[in-house]
Amino acid sequence: MDDLHMNDLSDIVAADRAHIWHHLMPHKSLETTDPRIIVEGKGMRVWDQHGKEHLDGVSGGVWTVNVGYGRTEIADAVRDQLVKMNYFAQTLGSVPGARFAERLIAKMPGMSRVFYANSGSEANEKAFKMVRQISARQHGGRKYKILYRDRDYHGTTIANLSAGGQDERNAQYGPFTPGFVRVPHCLEYRKQWDDVSGADYGRRAADAIEEVILREGPDTVGALCLEPITAGGGVILPPPGYWERVGEIVRKYDLLLHLDEVVCGVGRTGEWFGYQHYGIEPDFVTMAKGVASGYAAISCMVTSERVFEMFKDVPDDHLGYFRDISTFGGCTAGPAAALENMAIIEREDLLANCAAMGERLMGNLHELAERHAVIGDVRGKGLFCGAELVSDRTDRTPAEEARVKAVVADCMEQGVVIGASNRSMPGFNNTLLFSPALIATADDIDAITDSVDRALGRVF
Ligand code: PLP
Repeated sequence: MDDLHMNDLSDIVAADRAHIWHHLMPHKSLETTDPRIIVEGKGMRVWDQHGKEHLDGVSGGVWTVNVGYGRTEIADAVRDQLVKMNYFAQTLGSVPGARFAERLIAKMPGMSRVFYANSGSEANEKAFKMVRQISARQHGGRKYKILYRDRDYHGTTIANLSAGGQDERNAQYGPFTPGFVRVPHCLEYRKQWDDVSGADYGRRAADAIEEVILREGPDTVGALCLEPITAGGGVILPPPGYWERVGEIVRKYDLLLHLDEVVCGVGRTGEWFGYQHYGIEPDFVTMAKGVASGYAAISCMVTSERVFEMFKDVPDDHLGYFRDISTFGGCTAGPAAALENMAIIEREDLLANCAAMGERLMGNLHELAERHAVIGDVRGKGLFCGAELVSDRTDRTPAEEARVKAVVADCMEQGVVIGASNRSMPGFNNTLLFSPALIATADDIDAITDSVDRALGRVF
């Protein structure tokens, strides 16, 4: 660490207080406490303005810094690229853009084209627009509806909120974009069909998608947009049988399958992509957070060649191509950082580490559940885990929001950062979230769960 954090940062705190609009934050909480300024990071750890060290159990708060902090090799690659050629609109090409696309596609059999943008929301919008354009061109505009799932989240723009399954995020921001239709979530712990369980539950939850298609009219539904594993909605792994049935439905109704890998993507679950655990064949894959681990702003909307073919220029048809641009999709910092990020994951065998450390994290959480009755359910894949808190294990009453927050705050006091799920409907924001960087060691994992152990003991 250099000694920046030892300097007097009161002027920075004052500037932050006066001028920063913190994301997702009720600012009332800053009336009584100072904003926390993160000054420096190295590996799994960050330091705040008081020099306090925090073990980061959530990769920069929102599943982003997959390869950890202070990676000089990424910074050097970005610097070298920016000095040589920083930007030209992606209407033309760039060296790192082409190289990263080639490396990325090599990890995604069946996919073929990369559209660069800046955020997960933006990447998802691109896919939504393609669905609409395909509907317009091939189905006379009829097959325009996009199905999304309760509890999933796809981003912050009005169209993404229209596809958003977390009601708290949507309240007061309507009216929304027409043509987005909700299907039920698939979390068996919060059962919606009492007569089935296990793989039958997975198939039943997917059957619910077919029911919505039949209700809406199959010729009106163009696409299904899903998170492979729901992230902020509570770490929801589709039950066995779910994806197989989804695949059947997609084929039966000729739907385009859009998988939002903004969280799962680029190693978080121990595979390059979350969907690769399930043998699914998507038409669109969107990704953002882990693509460059937060060293540059980059997102990708990746399509199959089948989709690309649909947009091949038709002679004498000036509307036949995808008429879309993202200004900073042409900034070379993104793919330069992404290339080095991917090289680090390979060089350091971080997919294997993620899988192994994920097992350890799950094991520790299960062990905690034996001693803390407040843990009702433990879920996860790789370093993407959640522990759902309940005030009563028998009827699964969700733990009070204030207490869930108190656990997160207690861990923060102990110098460990963990997260909590977003509210989907009252009472469903009760899952602790864990997503350490893929470089986590066994000691890091144990330190995270030890702090949760102490916090649960104090709060409950
Ligand atoms: N999709 C998922 C699954 C997300 O979790 C998020 C953000 O948390 C997004 C999309 C939106 O990404 P961004 O904030 O980069 O627009």
